[in-house]
Amino acid sequence: MSGLPATMKALRYDKPKSYAVVEVPLPKLRENDVLIKVKACGVCGTDLHIHDGEFIAKFPLIPGHETVGVVAAIGPAVKDFTIGDRVCADNSELCGECFYCRRGQTLLCEHFEAHGVTMDGGFAEYCAYPAGKVFKIHNLSDVDATLLEPASCACHGLEKIAPKLGSTVLMFGAGPTGLCLAQLLKHNGGSHVVIAAPGGLKLELAKKLGAADEYVELSRSNPEAQFQALKDANPYGFDIVVEATGSAKILEDSIHYVRRGGKLVVYGVYSDSARVTWPPSKIFGDEITILGSFSETHMFPATIGYLDSGKVKVEGIVNKTYKLEQWGECLEAMRNKTAIKAAIVFD
Ligand SMILES: [Zn+2]
Ligand SMILES: [Zn+2]
Repeated sequence: MSGLPATMKALRYDKPKSYAVVEVPLPKLRENDVLIKVKACGVCGTDLHIHDGEFIAKFPLIPGHETVGVVAAIGPAVKDFTIGDRVCADNSELCGECFYCRRGQTLLCEHFEAHGVTMDGGFAEYCAYPAGKVFKIHNLSDVDATLLEPASCACHGLEKIAPKLGSTVLMFGAGPTGLCLAQLLKHNGGSHVVIAAPGGLKLELAKKLGAADEYVELSRSNPEAQFQALKDANPYGFDIVVEATGSAKILEDSIHYVRRGGKLVVYGVYSDSARVTWPPSKIFGDEITILGSFSETHMFPATIGYLDSGKVKVEGIVNKTYKLEQWGECLEAMRNKTAIKAAIVFD
């Protein structure tokens, strides 16, 4: 590891809400690890939950799970990377031995570890990942490449939805992963994709990216008339309805837009206490499939294919960037929603 500094700057939490930018030793490389000099690391809702101590995080912790950078060093067993390669990293580390891993359901691993959540991640000048979880990128900018992790979750969602050719789609919400999923559905069987969301930054961006075929701007105070108009204009409903706002109320109503034989995708982040009431007779009689999708494993190669080629567009989703030292400001922009999505950037 010649030419590397002995220490690095990192944003470290010793417990929830208690963080500082500190000088720490560089991460130790295991045989198969790649050391990444971080260029950008995306910030997402999960980081807010980690800050508040509401997630499965283990402290002390360097958060950051949407890491992009260049290879700075490689472990002795690493073959396919050279110093200077531009890369991104998949943050999950799976045990390979538990009940679910043995059944090939790795996403459900009982000993699921994740960089930036239970292990140190990318809010630091350097971080180390196993080579099998590191992927080369070519065209995407560093900042746009931070979307590869959330877009991989959208790709997993696409796989679970398995849309039929010619499907019509209604998505509630226009957040970062929703914008990726809407485009993926457009490219994979979606004949007509509608995004319904309150007016504002996110919906404007959706239009700019061409994420859907039709946009419904929902009134923030009283969207009832628009909900009714949407139902009236689509008497047969939609083959696929995606609830991507995290509102239990909208989720509850979503089922009434699902076409007979269609699918309802539970795709938002809901509080643990949220509950919905659905008529079982409708699910039974209309043969509705209700499915969930929250994370991903092994979707990076497919996702890089979509994003690095520009087929799925992400430019502008990250609309705020900050230095490590501005973490407080960044948290504030996430909270007050002036950031569609933020990223921490390094020189
Ligand atoms: Zn995230
Ligand atoms: Zn496992």
